Amino acid sequence: MESPKPYNGSGEALRRLPAVDAVLRSSSASPLLERYGAVSVTGAVRSALGETRDAIFAGCIPDLSIENIVLLAGNSLEGRGLRRVVNATGVILHTNLGRSVLSEKAVEAVFEAATGYSNLEYSVPAGRRGSRYDHAVPLLTELTGAEDALVVNNCAGATLLALAAAVDGEPGSEVIVSRGQLIEIGGGFRIPEVLEVSGATLREVGTTNRTRLADYDQAINDATRAVLWVHPSNFEVVGFTESVGVKELCTLGQTVIADVGSGAMLPLADEPRITEAVKDGADLVIFSGDKLLGGPQAGIIVGKKRLIRKMRSHPLTRALRADKLCLAALEATLKSYLDGTAAEELPTQRMLNESAEVVGARAGSLAERLREASPGPLAFEVVGSVARSGGGTLPNFEVLSAAVRVGGTDADTLARGLRRARVPVVGRVYNGSLLLDARTLLPGDEGRIVAAFQQFFGAADG
Ligand SMILES: *Cc1c(COP(=O)(O)O)cnc(C)c1O
Repeated sequence: MESPKPYNGSGEALRRLPAVDAVLRSSSASPLLERYGAVSVTGAVRSALGETRDAIFAGCIPDLSIENIVLLAGNSLEGRGLRRVVNATGVILHTNLGRSVLSEKAVEAVFEAATGYSNLEYSVPAGRRGSRYDHAVPLLTELTGAEDALVVNNCAGATLLALAAAVDGEPGSEVIVSRGQLIEIGGGFRIPEVLEVSGATLREVGTTNRTRLADYDQAINDATRAVLWVHPSNFEVVGFTESVGVKELCTLGQTVIADVGSGAMLPLADEPRITEAVKDGADLVIFSGDKLLGGPQAGIIVGKKRLIRKMRSHPLTRALRADKLCLAALEATLKSYLDGTAAEELPTQRMLNESAEVVGARAGSLAERLREASPGPLAFEVVGSVARSGGGTLPNFEVLSAAVRVGGTDADTLARGLRRARVPVVGRVYNGSLLLDARTLLPGDEGRIVAAFQQFFGAADG
């Protein structure tokens, strides 16, 4: 990498940059020193000064006051652990940023469940022990048309559980999967490895690009326990391809497990619909709670009563069980679908469906506020952009969006600076500019973005 050269005027800024000692001796640093000790605070101050120096070299003149350096150091010390961030990437189900945001109703339900006792494992009418696995079942069966349902901690766990239950500890039990569906999903979830852990012997059929029904048919033997269909989620094979749908697989007379992953409840482009997989006859349909469904992290299995019963008593189910906060949030989320209000109430659905005009207006208002609040050399321009669903939905699903493009400064330096704010802002650097996509912004985020700019550059008149 070329070493950066100061641009005109940056020599003066470098001279104004306070020394480590001066920052540590300042009165504003004393609360931090008391709380975190000299070693940690010195390290944080050094790195805040280092980043500020880098920003100056890159042509940004950030706020150089001792107070701001202390603030940056404090942010990095206090920001350890799970914290809120602003998602200005335009990726709606951003796996690294926590996927779905809960609806207000889901949050209220979580609050109720968290701040009081509940009937988690208690039957109120009978006055005795009940089952946590009963919650959400009526909602799920009504919504999907399936006979029964089971909720566990996440979709990966649900897939593992379904396979383990199908195999039932019998050595040599085979599960048939198309070679085109032996995929890896984020976080190291690989279908062949999950099969192995479940105790199943993987029986691969077909080729990477083409698998026919006859391939499955020929592979069936006495050891076959299930056929697994997996939504390819994060990639697409194009060109000379052929695959077998759930409906056709159900003609084979075997147990069909369909891992639809993102699982859309409402229509979305070519995403597989949960209800369709059920209607097509899959014995078990598995999907995530926090992808397109727009609820909490959960693995949801719907399907035939006989198989769900068997899974309920499987030892893995106890290890994978969902907690009460998840169940509360999930029930509230499902109710929004039953009420027909999901498209407005669930942030994920709202972000997917909002019109380009509404998103454009939000970008316009953000640009306006940034212009008012930020000092001279920065330029804020509303540009068209493309948002994505992300999170293991169809890779090519794109939706027109609008973003604020920040000019007049080095994009990478600015991106790094905004990530150091008290509420970090994560944008997207594209063609040498930082883009702040308005489609994934939530109420209050405009203010958080303005605050992040002000923390980095200082307030306009300050
Ligand atoms: C995302 C995904 C999973 C894993 O879901 P988690 O909720 O992250 O555990 C499993 N299968 C498919 C097809 C997926 O898309």
